[in-house]
Amino acid sequence: MARIIVSFSGGKDSQATLIYAINRWGADKVEAVFCDTGWEHPLTNNFVKEVCDKLGVKLTTLVKKRCGEDLTFEKLCLETHCFPVPSRRACTKTLKIEPMVDWILEQDDNLIILQGIRAKESESRAKMASECMYFAEYFNDKIKGQYRKRAVKKWCETHDASLLRPIFGWTSQEVIDYILTNGMRPNPLYERGCSRVGCFPCIMSRQREIQLVARDNEMRERLINLEKKVNEPNRSRGALNYAGFFVKGFIPERFCRTIKGGYPTVQEVLDYVTRDDCQLDMFEPEEGYSCMSLYRGLCE
Ligand code: SF4
Repeated sequence: MARIIVSFSGGKDSQATLIYAINRWGADKVEAVFCDTGWEHPLTNNFVKEVCDKLGVKLTTLVKKRCGEDLTFEKLCLETHCFPVPSRRACTKTLKIEPMVDWILEQDDNLIILQGIRAKESESRAKMASECMYFAEYFNDKIKGQYRKRAVKKWCETHDASLLRPIFGWTSQEVIDYILTNGMRPNPLYERGCSRVGCFPCIMSRQREIQLVARDNEMRERLINLEKKVNEPNRSRGALNYAGFFVKGFIPERFCRTIKGGYPTVQEVLDYVTRDDCQLDMFEPEEGYSCMSLYRGLCE
């Protein structure tokens, strides 16, 4: 029988998927795989371990390696002298997709990989299949530049990796109910007000989530320091090329005073989201906040 692998991010959808897999196949047949970017909230790291311990499933934590060393979100930003942008999300590709592909290629078994993707999250997700071949896009000649394409095709000659999305038709309320009915609780970050968990903060966070960062001293300092380090004089490409964690337009331009052109610094964003009179974003963008890569589900 194929091995049952659940892509577990620490978010509610992948948690429900993990529970589903255990209820269907048994804990001894199921393994959870977590891609660690080094930029998660410590509560998420602990939560992932606690859930797997409680459910009795093996947990494999993947970290991108470069020259034998762990590559984290912070190192990636320092190496590239900038931050990933929501439209390209180099962080997902480098820190989540690539380690997952590397890991699969090391496995000498057929795999059934489960993802906690739901159609109701967005229009584009609704168009996805609830079941397909995991590497289907590698066999679509219109898609170029796939990571390790030749190796993946070779692996697929002798192995099978199927992709299942068992909670595809569920609502978020059904997800929460399922977790609670099975005697567990979702990631405590939801109770603090996060609408998604994963990197903290994610480059795609809403202002409301950044407000939570602003109130968490450790996470606040971590973010301020990273932006400072990325822009140290010997790293920076000059004042005009300031590398900001937040994109232009994240807060109203009149609150962006340090960098010309309306680019906000982390400090300006943190100051803005904690103002009594600030107007925080009310809605998620149409496509949601999750990574929309081939391996959707690696980020929540
Ligand atoms: S959760 Fe956000 S910051 Fe982290 S890898 Fe995914 S897109 Fe990037």
